Amino acid sequence: MAENLSVLVTGGAGYIGSHAVLALLDSGHRPVVIDNLVTGFRWAVPDNATFYEGDIANSQMITRIIENERIDAVMHFAGSVVVPESVENPLKYYHNNTAKTRSLIESLVANEVRHMIFSSTAATYGIPETSPVREDMPTRPINPYGTSKLMTEMMLRDVAAAHDFNYCALRYFNVAGADPKARSGQSTVGATHLLKIAVEAALGKRGSVSVFGTDYATEDGTGVRDYIHVADLAAAHVIALEALVANPKTSHTLNCGYGHGYSVMQVLDAVDRVTNHKLVRNLEGRRAGDPDALISDNRAIVDRFGWQPKYDDLDVIVEHALAWERQLGERQTQ
Ligand code: UDP
Repeated sequence: MAENLSVLVTGGAGYIGSHAVLALLDSGHRPVVIDNLVTGFRWAVPDNATFYEGDIANSQMITRIIENERIDAVMHFAGSVVVPESVENPLKYYHNNTAKTRSLIESLVANEVRHMIFSSTAATYGIPETSPVREDMPTRPINPYGTSKLMTEMMLRDVAAAHDFNYCALRYFNVAGADPKARSGQSTVGATHLLKIAVEAALGKRGSVSVFGTDYATEDGTGVRDYIHVADLAAAHVIALEALVANPKTSHTLNCGYGHGYSVMQVLDAVDRVTNHKLVRNLEGRRAGDPDALISDNRAIVDRFGWQPKYDDLDVIVEHALAWERQLGERQTQ
């Protein structure tokens, strides 16, 4: 297996990127982080990873890093991720996610970096006709965030056809949890994701949790999502990296999820179970644009890469998220 690859991790100071950095270190690779620290945290990058503060669209800087650090591959996490904001300010998303990624890919091709792992999203599917959703099913994003990521997938496909370059686009489902050793976790201030909000409420950082919609076509009427532990997702990136290097002519677009889902109520029940305390739930109306259920068909990533999730257990995801949330206050003041 390829070892000691030098991997440029864009957005490596962010939630998922920082876990990928840990996974790379744990697998004997060498992560080199570039992050503009707009939403990331300098402290989220471990001391044994090289760090550059900068922008992925600064092609001079990217070229310098590629040369100085002898970069073999890129894991590209940098971008904007807030769906409602993308509806209000679509050009920000086409700029940060699509245009800047075009610039980054151009720098890679010009400097003969031949492999890229890309953070894509289940939002590329929009509202899928069937759930679980397979990679070859129609992609009809319903917000600029999803479109900005799908446009990048299209660029990658065309660049791989034209140049000596391969890629793996990983379509994430609902990423949750934190590093099992509590070295990193979800630290975004004002996060909107369900489990983050639930653990904040469990620790008294907010009074209650809103349940958005109780009349969905699901077993208990609340929305169902495929929650994947961030450490399993990070491990998938390392496997993808090694596959891209081993088979440089093959590219992949793969779902990253567990292939089964939990409702909002089941997630809140899990938090109650783990904390032995009942969260206050406010039943509210639907949030615009939310599908009833969004579940991955993950057979492709399992079959192709032999990906074996280690933390496919909602209570474990909750435990890790809680452990991180408990000690987050101290870090954020550093
Ligand atoms: N949700 C909720 N209350 C919240 C946040 C989310 O009921 O405070 C629901 C949301 O409607 C969806 C699920 O939880 O059914 C997951 O939402 P989240 O924002 O975490 O991720 P998304 O699936 O939108 O990417």
